[in-house]
Amino acid sequence: MPPLSELFPTVYGRGLIPELKSFVHRPYLVVTMDDLWPLFRDAFDDGVAGPLFVRTLERDELDRIVAELPACGSVVGLGGGQALDVAKYVAWARRLPLFQVPTALSVNAAWGHRAAVRVGGIVRYVAWAIPEAVYIDFDVIRGAPADLNRSGVGDILCYHTGHWDWRMARDRGRVEARWPYDERLVAEAEVALGRVVDHADEIRGVTDAGLRALGESLRWGGAAFHNAGWNPRHIEGAEHFVFYNLEYLTGKPFIHGQAVCLGVILMSALQENRAEWIRSVIDRIGVPWRPEQMGVTGGQVEQALRTLPAYVERAGLWYTVASDRPVTEEFIARMRAWLGY
Ligand SMILES: [Zn+2]
Repeated sequence: MPPLSELFPTVYGRGLIPELKSFVHRPYLVVTMDDLWPLFRDAFDDGVAGPLFVRTLERDELDRIVAELPACGSVVGLGGGQALDVAKYVAWARRLPLFQVPTALSVNAAWGHRAAVRVGGIVRYVAWAIPEAVYIDFDVIRGAPADLNRSGVGDILCYHTGHWDWRMARDRGRVEARWPYDERLVAEAEVALGRVVDHADEIRGVTDAGLRALGESLRWGGAAFHNAGWNPRHIEGAEHFVFYNLEYLTGKPFIHGQAVCLGVILMSALQENRAEWIRSVIDRIGVPWRPEQMGVTGGQVEQALRTLPAYVERAGLWYTVASDRPVTEEFIARMRAWLGY
């Protein structure tokens, strides 16, 4: 069977950033974060149209920023998920070639066609960009906090809860007509999930082998939404809804995979779906999933659980365990005891 997926060109290596100035279209806009720019500025030359520092993901504000940009020939995304998503949005709005350089493997943003922006605080995946290439420099990635890289598994381990949600929706007759359950998509996702589980120790150690395994799984996952005809069912479920609601309620910025891993643990328990096992995988990799490690309280997490069905309804999200088994106070108390927050 041929692979179902067309994936973005991706290169693994070393010393990749100083090479960019030799081949990206000039002048080039570097979309990055202000704390990263001093670390990488010297790798670029006078072809820089200006660094664009990401300060917002709100679509209205991004449109205003795009309208005021200087003329440029290409866009370089340099940073974590937010920088890569804004780079994508700018490249799309200005119809420019895009080169993506993640500085951490914290999310699959480098490999997804659409940008995760916010409209009125609610996440929306909009725009379209296929990069010329994604450059994964082992030394650059290892320069990021280890926890950030380990957290990248969140966007892969979520298949565990996502697949349960899809099967449940099928069995209940609640699956969307345009997203009928597809065993082939689930099987492909299981390969990406298995690769991460099999490399848990290497990913914890942030070794080259661990980064390659994580990178290849994120590469598959990033393109999977488009490759499945904009079907998110095999790659995302209620665990992401927990994160979205937590972000909505607290207004705090989260490291995506940390909050998603917390969602995976909670929703796998609600699903009664090998919760102990997936928690042990997350702990073995070393993702800091505890509320206090994300700057929120256990009470805020519990509030996000209580209001989850209402959030899902309001945001127009699909049918998952979040809607099928509304969280009870008994479940909340059980989680508090099990997870100790
Ligand atoms: Zn995600």
